[in-house]
Amino acid sequence: MRILALVLWLSLIASPIQCGYANLPDLPDMGAPSDDVMTPAEEKRLGEAFFRNLHQQAEVSDDPEIQNYIASLGNRLVSHSDMAAQRFHFFVVMEPSINAFAGPAGYIGVHSGLILATRTESELASVLAHEIAHVTQNHLKRAFAAASRMTLPMAAATLAAILLGTQSPAAAQAALIALQAGSLQSQINFTRSNEQEADRIGLQILAASDFDPRSMPAFFERLQQSTRFLGYNIPEFLRTHPVTSSRIADTRSRAEAFPYHQYTDSLDYLITKAKLQVISSDQPELYKRDFQAAMQRGTPNQKAAALYGLALILLEQRQFDASKKMLLELLSESPDQPQFIHALAQVEIAMGQKTQGLERYRLALRRFPGSKVLKLEYAEALLANGHFQGAKKLIEPHITEQAKNYPVLYKLLSQAYAGLNETAQGQRYLAEYYYAIGDLEQAINHARLAVKMAKDDRILTAVARERLLFFRAEEEARKH
Ligand SMILES: [Zn+2]
Repeated sequence: MRILALVLWLSLIASPIQCGYANLPDLPDMGAPSDDVMTPAEEKRLGEAFFRNLHQQAEVSDDPEIQNYIASLGNRLVSHSDMAAQRFHFFVVMEPSINAFAGPAGYIGVHSGLILATRTESELASVLAHEIAHVTQNHLKRAFAAASRMTLPMAAATLAAILLGTQSPAAAQAALIALQAGSLQSQINFTRSNEQEADRIGLQILAASDFDPRSMPAFFERLQQSTRFLGYNIPEFLRTHPVTSSRIADTRSRAEAFPYHQYTDSLDYLITKAKLQVISSDQPELYKRDFQAAMQRGTPNQKAAALYGLALILLEQRQFDASKKMLLELLSESPDQPQFIHALAQVEIAMGQKTQGLERYRLALRRFPGSKVLKLEYAEALLANGHFQGAKKLIEPHITEQAKNYPVLYKLLSQAYAGLNETAQGQRYLAEYYYAIGDLEQAINHARLAVKMAKDDRILTAVARERLLFFRAEEEARKH
């Protein structure tokens, strides 16, 4: 009833006030109030709109290596859940706060701050497993059903604001979002029984995926203690997922039931963490000492990741020779580690050894022809060095239905076309890029330019016009 009242009230404020209660505007027809279940198609639409809108409120990482790591970790866990057949999309939000969330239709986000707060890969996996369990157990349906009583653009924006926990003033409808958030927040905050179930199921997923079940109570306890004893702000994660001591005790006793064995962090986890430390800090210099310490006493993988972190800092500081030396050392140990190959190619290109740097990608791709990460990195390097045709060939095959989850693909393809003087195509893909990151105004501007520039190209004119109409219809929907 509360939701219905909210809708009534919103319809009232959204329309001229002259109508009294006897003359209420029509309610949006998004299902009867008793109908709490969204159809899969509705949820997919909400999930996609939610993901587009997120980009307007926070920076979603478009780093192919970071993206690839979180997706493979997430998908490894999903494959051990009872939703193995469903498609999930995992991504990293570049925010220092400690947060992770599950949006509609399997969109699961992790803040970079949470990744950096984990001490082991199993801790990170335990957060993802917990989120996956909320999805598999349908705990989110209530919140999404509540959201679906709003218009789609409003629901997407409000969900994004609540789940990110960072209400951005840049969000166009910030004031309205704030008004609606209060009600929706209570639908999103999981109940104690939801939390216990997500821990229980998450623990099974974690163990089945060969991560340490004991890391789940350990990490949640540390989060809880950081607020209780150290007086830090409550991590966003704990707002939507309330942690209690009894819940931790419960999870701990379940975790202890699994036979103990040693778990080691993957090199990919350590490398991702080192990279996030360097790229998300204003003063990466500060990490130098940590990396140097890790190189003294760490495991071989920890030492390698620390040396990689140092090489990245040196690259940022334009100390190319020293950086190159470290990366060559790393590659002599692990010649196939793609992150090392990419970093070395970057250093070489930055120090003017362009041919050598580009050749490195080409050779690596010959060894790993299926690597999407390498292809994108190579394409970016080609674009930056004026090889537009080569870049286009690498990116174009990835412009599929799934590209909406990787908006940067559209941007890169647009740059390749612009470089080839195919300006109409360039504008067309730029429009797709802006649409994918939720900026309808720019999408419309660039689609309009594409129509204008396409001139005699009838097919392109038709495509661009159709997209322009589609974007305008979405903009119209946003106003209601
Ligand atoms: Zn939870």
